[in-house]
Amino acid sequence: MNLVLMGLPGAGKGTQAEKIVEKYGIPHISTGDMFRAAIKDGTPLGKKAKEYMDSGNLVPDEVTIGIVRDRLGKADCDKGFLLDGFPRTVAQAEALQNLLADLNRKLDYVINIAVDEDQLMRRLTGRRICSNCGATYHIIYNPPKVEGICDKCGGELYQREDDKEETVRTRLEVNKEQQQPLLDFYDDKGYLRNINGNQEIDEVFKDVDELLGGLS
Ligand SMILES: [Zn+2]
Repeated sequence: MNLVLMGLPGAGKGTQAEKIVEKYGIPHISTGDMFRAAIKDGTPLGKKAKEYMDSGNLVPDEVTIGIVRDRLGKADCDKGFLLDGFPRTVAQAEALQNLLADLNRKLDYVINIAVDEDQLMRRLTGRRICSNCGATYHIIYNPPKVEGICDKCGGELYQREDDKEETVRTRLEVNKEQQQPLLDFYDDKGYLRNINGNQEIDEVFKDVDELLGGLS
């Protein structure tokens, strides 16, 4: 079961990844974890990646792809993998196709958790933090008993700059623009499966599970 997971910030990708891993026993390979592991293990590519990162530069594709290749060659990927955060560009997606062909494998699906923009805005702008004790709330999903006041300590709640509407809207736009060419690429190749992510978490997973159940 060889999968790529996609979705905009707030789509619930992490939660679905956890559920897929739990049910199907394939490793969740996120770019961040993969880089950290390669650097910690001191692999040649990990060392290279660290040099770029330490000097504040983007890690070039050939290094990133090498790290993905190393990771997918590990024994825990024998039954499959769930890639998350890679590929980010069409060039990387093409490299992944070649890499998998070298390994005598191919993708099964690219799962895109699709959520309406107004829903994403609600999810991403609702966070409030206590200015006194740091407790976090969400005005829809986990509201305080009294608006604007921390349940635990009575402190005043505030909204972080990152969670403000303007910032979130820009972040979503940037992500959408980055993802669209990838979604088109995978759609053309017949791998793309859109899952309705507007539903409750368990309903979303039911749809994912139905799709994946057909593979095993
Ligand atoms: Zn508090």
